[in-house]
Amino acid sequence: MTDALLETLSASSAQPIEPRREVVTAIPGPKSQALHERRVKVVPPGVHSVLPVYIEAANGAVLRDVDGNQFIDLGAGIGVTTVGHTREAVVDAAKAQLDSFLHTLFTITPYESYVRVAELLAQHTPGDFEKHTVLVNSGAEAVENGVKIARKYTGRRAVAVLEHAYHGRTNLTMAMNYKAAPYATGFGPFAGDVFHAPSSYPYRDGLSGEEAAARTIAYLEKRIGASDLAALVVEPIQGEGGFQTPAEGYLPALQEWTTRNGVVLIADEIQSGMGRTGRWFASEHFGLVPDLVLSAKGIAAGLPLAGVTGRAEIMDAAQPGGLGGTFGGNPVAAAASVAVFELIERDGLLAEAARIEKTLTRGLTALQERFDIIGDIRGRGAMMAIELVQPGTAQTTKAPNQEAVNALAAHAAQNGVLVLTAGTWGNVLRFLPSLAISDELLEDALGVLADGFAAL
Ligand SMILES: *Cc1c(COP(=O)(O)O)cnc(C)c1O
Repeated sequence: MTDALLETLSASSAQPIEPRREVVTAIPGPKSQALHERRVKVVPPGVHSVLPVYIEAANGAVLRDVDGNQFIDLGAGIGVTTVGHTREAVVDAAKAQLDSFLHTLFTITPYESYVRVAELLAQHTPGDFEKHTVLVNSGAEAVENGVKIARKYTGRRAVAVLEHAYHGRTNLTMAMNYKAAPYATGFGPFAGDVFHAPSSYPYRDGLSGEEAAARTIAYLEKRIGASDLAALVVEPIQGEGGFQTPAEGYLPALQEWTTRNGVVLIADEIQSGMGRTGRWFASEHFGLVPDLVLSAKGIAAGLPLAGVTGRAEIMDAAQPGGLGGTFGGNPVAAAASVAVFELIERDGLLAEAARIEKTLTRGLTALQERFDIIGDIRGRGAMMAIELVQPGTAQTTKAPNQEAVNALAAHAAQNGVLVLTAGTWGNVLRFLPSLAISDELLEDALGVLADGFAAL
């Protein structure tokens, strides 16, 4: 470690973070700019940073950069620090593990925390049946394993995903994403036997859940045929696609069809799971009981961990040695994850997600009354979004308004609020704060956004 880096780290732990927004330099400030100059010499532009302020410390729902600016974090590292940044219980659990051992490889010599995470996932994922879990390192790796297991179990080849889906950046998951740019452009050839079925997008398709499901099922039957379909992969609330929240009855109708046809239904809950929406897993909002559930992002509050959890008879289809990987279920990440599960329960964080939904819905509805470019407000819990359209088109063509979204995100950043964008047309602002965020911080952030809307 360089002396400068050591100095930054010890300075940051010495100063506690007050839970407030504070802008003391231009954004990005001079120290961030200097770091950025070093970065562009050694990191390729393919690794893009939304807001190149370099972070020195973070706590709860606030990030502090190296110039002393403090940001209200409405992104939580894309829904990762769901329990809050650097929560003591999580940090302590990781530190205790650091003192005992860092690695053995579970597939060589196992340890308890991996088993405990599997028990907790079995307990908290939907469905009252025996469940088994494999732990891996990233969301995309969980998707890959879910598909692999479903193919082995069914002996079938095809995989279906929904329009507007996002599943990762590996070769298989690039083929599963809806959007080519920027995730897949030029990176082919891609994995075959992946089919994109129409989804439920109530704001734009106007279909009931039943009608949307009939359309999806017709596609699956005609284009693939149930007897060739191994798995249907759905995000109960779509993440990068723009937080599309399916019409009532859509997901249960798909489940009825997959069950009847022996297709494995996989819920990608990588963004929507782990308490984010006010339930342990978003599937519960829609009466969905998936065969396999994919977890990642929020599962270990920032340490890399992901899992595939599902019906024991499906999970057990893979032969011994067929699943795993060097770092999968790393002891430090697993210890942190156990603490995350305990924290969600101990601090009643599911109720906090409901509070955040209420505060955001109230604030965003008030904004919608003032600004007619807010076409739609949707989501659940601390996973809410607004979709922006061109002025005067909210009741007609709903023409996407990416420019407004970009201007608002830039205005927010300049004023100490980090808010993320999303959507197939880039016209969605998404709110993914940690469940530790106070109403006070949320309202302060909404005030900044209101000024941004007024300035458009
Ligand atoms: C982030 C995300 C992934 C990919 O996870 P990585 O850890 O980035 O590989 C997959 N599915 C959904 C829904 C996601 O939000």
